[in-house]
This record gives sequence, C-alpha cells and structure tokens, in this order.
Amino acid sequence: MTVAVYPGSFDPVTNGHLDIASRAAGLFDRLILAVYETPPKKAVLFPLQERLDMLRLACSTLPDVQVEAFSGLIIDYCRRVGAKVIVRGLRMTSDFEREFEMALMNKNLAPEIEVVCLMARTEYQFLSSSLVKEVAGLGGSIENLVPPHVVSALQAKLPRLKEIQTGQKGG
Ligand code: ADP
Repeated sequence: MTVAVYPGSFDPVTNGHLDIASRAAGLFDRLILAVYETPPKKAVLFPLQERLDMLRLACSTLPDVQVEAFSGLIIDYCRRVGAKVIVRGLRMTSDFEREFEMALMNKNLAPEIEVVCLMARTEYQFLSSSLVKEVAGLGGSIENLVPPHVVSALQAKLPRLKEIQTGQKGG
C-alpha cells in the first residue's frame, strides 16, 4: 500500500490545490493532506484550525484522503505515517526553482522518500492562495477560484485583509 503526503500552508485551499489532491488521490492508496501548523517564512491569514476545517470540507468527497496538521520536517512526518511519497503541485513560472531545491534537500535527508510533482492545469497556472487573498481584499470576484465555503470565509476576513493591504499590523 502506497501512502502519499501532500503538504502545504493551504491559506486558504484553492481549486488548484484541490485539482492536485484529486489527481494524486487517484494515483496512491492513501493521501494525507498535511497542513503546516506554522508555515516557514510565511504569515498566515487563517489560523490552523480554520485552514484544516476548510480543507476537510473541500476534500470530503475524495476517497481515501485525510487532512492532518503537522509541524517540523516533512520527511519526519512522512516516516511517522509510513508515507513513501511527497506530492507537490508545479506551476509554470513560480514553483520550479524552490520545489527543485526542496526536493533535493529532502532526498539528501531521506533517500527512501520520492517527490512526485504534478503539473498544474492550464486554468490554475496563475492561481495562488496569496493572489486570491489579494483580490478578495480588493473586492474582486474569486468564485471560480475557490470552493463556496472559502469565498464566505474570505468575506468574513475582509477587515483583516484590508488592514494587511493598507500596511497596518503586518501579516
Ligand atoms: P506552500 O507554503 O508549501 O507553498 P501552498 O499551500 O502555497 O503551500 O502550496 C502547496 C502546494 O500546492 C505546493 O506544491 C504548491 O506549488 C501547490 N500549488 C499551489 N497552488 C497551486 C495551483 N494553482 N495549481 C497547482 N498546484 C498548486
């Protein structure tokens, strides 16, 4: 049985993440979406529990998919849950260098674990959680980019998003 882990901040989950998750779910016996408790070098808008809840609801119809929180090194988490594969999504321009660097580092730390990158679909190439937050904060429509419950969650965060965009209180 092959267990795979798809790690990310998911702040918030987008349709691009969900496309990768559903395609990966078809490739492996079990897929764990692992949500960073505290993403390295990133300030998050949604606290961990909200990111987990949004992702769980979004993945509720995917078979053999679990959503869990993790902290520390992803390879340690993979070893703990018996996963041999790390799944990542690759967008054309923004991801390659960073993903390559991380994959090589993880290979160095854990030679038994493979990184499998799935190419982002054309329509999601320019979709990122940060862009969704930026557009939502400016009042733009994000309905075709994230699940409906994420649209509502972003609307509820509008005051905070506006604060961030006008440079108040960081984050
Ligand atoms: P991280 O903080 O690890 O980059 P993200 O939640 O931003 O976490 O992304 C998690 C994974 O999903 C990464 O591999 C990222 O490249 C991938 N990803 C993000 N957006 C998309 C998208 N639109 N299409 C395909 N993959 C994506």
